[in-house]
Parts: sequence; C-alpha cells; structure tokens
Amino acid sequence: MAVLYSSTRGGEKGVSASQAILKGLACDGGLFVPNAIPVIDGKLSDWKELSYKELAYEVMKLYFDDFTEEELKNCIERAYDEKFDTDVIAPMTEADGVFYLELFHGATIAFKDMALSILPHLMTTSAKKNKIENEIVILTATSGDTGKAALAGFAEVEGTKIIVFYPKNGVSPVQERQMVTQKGDNTYVVGIHGNFDDAQSGVKKIFNDKELAEYMNSKGFQFSSANSINIGRLVPQIVYYVFAYLNLLKEERIAEGEKINVVVPTGNFGNILAAYYAKNMGVPIDKLICASNDNKVLYDFFETGCYDRNREFVLTSSPSMDILISSNLERLIYRICGDDPVMNKEFMESLQNTGVYHITKEMKEQLESYSGGYASEAETAETIKSLYEKTGYVIDTHTAVAASVYHKYVKETGDTTKTVIASTASPFKFGRSVLNAIDSKYDSLTDFEQIDELAKVANVAIPNAIDEIRNAPVLHDHICEKDAMVDEVKKFLGI
Ligand SMILES: *Cc1c(COP(=O)(O)O)cnc(C)c1O
Repeated sequence: MAVLYSSTRGGEKGVSASQAILKGLACDGGLFVPNAIPVIDGKLSDWKELSYKELAYEVMKLYFDDFTEEELKNCIERAYDEKFDTDVIAPMTEADGVFYLELFHGATIAFKDMALSILPHLMTTSAKKNKIENEIVILTATSGDTGKAALAGFAEVEGTKIIVFYPKNGVSPVQERQMVTQKGDNTYVVGIHGNFDDAQSGVKKIFNDKELAEYMNSKGFQFSSANSINIGRLVPQIVYYVFAYLNLLKEERIAEGEKINVVVPTGNFGNILAAYYAKNMGVPIDKLICASNDNKVLYDFFETGCYDRNREFVLTSSPSMDILISSNLERLIYRICGDDPVMNKEFMESLQNTGVYHITKEMKEQLESYSGGYASEAETAETIKSLYEKTGYVIDTHTAVAASVYHKYVKETGDTTKTVIASTASPFKFGRSVLNAIDSKYDSLTDFEQIDELAKVANVAIPNAIDEIRNAPVLHDHICEKDAMVDEVKKFLGI
C-alpha cells in the first residue's frame, strides 16, 4: 500500500512523499503527515549489522515509497559521506551510566546536519520526479544553527540556490563566521538590521507573495523551504533512533526487546517527534523525556495539557531551544486527537489568535509515554561541570539541559531503564558557555582562544568545522534593512 501524506489541517490529501518534500508546508498552513506511521515488519534485530547508510535506506523507504531504490540510495550516499568526521555517522559514548548519542559529527557540528545533509538531494530528486524545471530557491531565516546547516547542505547542489537571512547582531561570533565564510556560487548570506523575528516575518512575507511567485516562475525559479516542518527533515531523523537501539543491542548493553528511555533537548519538537515515530514503528522505546530550558512552554504543556505561548521570551545559553512556538508539536496534536484535522485546526487557530489552547482529557491520556522537564541556566552549567569532573566528558549546553532533566527525572521516579540522551551539538559550537560552566577563569579569552583551551580541557581534537572558519576569507558581507529583503533576493537571482 502506498504511503500518502495529508495536511494536519485537512486542506490537502493523497500527496506523494516527493510532492510533500517539495512543498514543505501544506497550502492550508498545516504540516504533512503520513496516513499511517509505517510499522517495521520482521524482526528489528535483523538490522543489527547494517551500517548507518544501509539502515537509513530501510527506514526511509517505508516513508518515501515513490522514490526508486536507486534514487533513495543515491540521496543517502551523497548525504552521509566524508562530510561526517566518522563513518559511524552517529556514534554513542557512555558517560556516568548514560548513553550519549552524538549527532554532531557532520559539517556544521550540530544535529541539524543529520537531516539537512540529505534534504537537498531529496528535494532535487523530488523536483525531477515531478518534472519541475525551475531552479529551486531555498529561503531561510536563521537564529544561528539552521542557516549554516542549510548552507552546507545546499552548497553546490545542482538545480538549487540558497539565501539565508540572519539578524546582524543576533547570532554568536562562531555562528556568524560559519555563515559568512560559506563557499559555493549558489549560496547567499545576508545580515539584516533587525532581530530573528524580523528575519522570519520577512521570509514568510516573501513566501506568501503571489505576484512575486509568478514573476519568479516566469524567470525559471520557485521557492522552497528547508525548515524543520518539512517531512524531508523529520524522516531522516527517525533513522538515528533506530540505529542507537540496534547499536545497544549489538554491543549487548540491552537484551532483545528490552525497552529504553530517550531524552531529547527540545525546541521546535522535531527531534523528539522523530523518536516518537520510531517508537510507533516498533522500536522498544518506553519514555520520551522532553527537555526544555527556561522557555519551558512544553514542560507546562505536558504537565497541564495547556499550551500557552503568552510569556516572556528568555535568552539562554542553549539558544537553539529558545522558542515559544514548537511547530512540530502540531503533528503530535493531530495524532492524539485521532487524526482529526478539524479539531487540530481549531487548536492551531486558537494558538494563532490567543496564544493558548487546551487539549481534552482523552488527548492528554495519550501522552503517557511523554515526560516533560526543564533545567535552569544554573542547573545546566552545573551539569556540564559535574559530568566533566566525574568522567572527563564534555557536553554542550543543549545536551546539558537534557542531562540535567534526566537526572531530575530519575530522582523523582526511580526509573532505572537504560537511557539514550540525544547529544545535539559539539561543545566547540558553544565554547564560551561550556568553558565558563567548567571554570570562570576562561571568561576573558577571545572566542578562538577559548576553542584552543576547550580542546585541551576536553582532550578532544578541534573539529574541522571550527578549523576551517578560523582563517577562511569572508565571502558574504551583505547587510540590508528588514524591509528590503525582497530586493536582496532579486539581486542575487539577477531578476
Ligand atoms: C535545533 C536544535 C535543538 C532543538 O531541536 P528541535 O528539533 O527543534 O526540537 C536542540 N539542540 C540543538 C543544538 C539544535 O541545533
């Protein structure tokens, strides 16, 4: 039976995987979901000896079934290659009795590489399959991590161009350098005078401009999105949860069928939703522990069944989780209201209009596999320090939020199930916060001095991604006002 996708808000049905990938968001503003989450048939343990790439094929073909074997394998080959600094792709490190699933061995040393290194290939293949001749123009607004991962993924990919807007004074120095040194004739990076919300609204406005879309079409271009709501980002993320389980089985850390818990530092709810899909496919996962920082909108939601974004936005040391609207949660809401698009749409409209929605008692009962937790800035720093002092292993701030939440969870519940923590960024990406957590004496060093120091402290080689930007020439120095973004797009495309 073919896997077809429909919008969580009911406006589109019977959409193929390749069409859903090309579109990103459904035309009614909903997210594409498969009609049913596919179940792994046969024994999971039969996949125990597969490499990451082989497993990626087995998992992704269950979702992307309008791709031929050759097409899908080709995408996988091009994604998980030497851009990753280990051919394991997603290795696991045990520290203090917990398994850290390291998802930061790709080109930009954050977990977004796991999906953004394959999305461009899924997208160009989808364009070919659907006889699209226009060049695909990816537009992205970024608060730091997504922009670089999308640039690295799309750079030099034939048939695509990518334009990234970032708040000129709103990203870390390392993040900015990573972006402005990006190579590739098809890449364009612009700093805007404004904050992340301005960049995001500007991009949304360009997407919704029908006249511009027609003009673009007449010139042979069309826009698409690399945002985490694209199903082409969600599905590749399922793979590493299956891989992690099989890895534990292979290493005889767990018995066949034994359940594990998974802890995920969460922002937009994409990563943890992938773990939920893996669970629903038949991977023995018991609890899904959703970890938030001080922006604890999800913790409150799991506690009370009320989603309420009306609160102060807090800037934390885990910026990729500083988010008040977790877009991918919509896919979970849709599922727990019984795949009912009308009901889901009401919740989303309520969120749009009032910033709040309350789920029903019946829906809340279906969330029992989830546990929400949050960590303050002090707890996060303390977790980095104590893990380092105990084991020598250094984790980044996002991963530390998850580790801190996990320790609190164990204290409260006494649950000793073996646990995997999704480690979402290299500590080198957030070196200043990480070093400061270990010892305040490093605070006066420059960013790159801190990186050298961190390499010594952690006893880990500096990742290529950092070495590359140290002396790389700046290739993008475009700056614009927030209402002039469309002119930048036209300038780059030469139209
Ligand atoms: C994006 C990001 C997250 C949050 O992931 P979501 O899928 O948005 O929940 C966590 N940690 C890091 C380092 C990230 O870049």
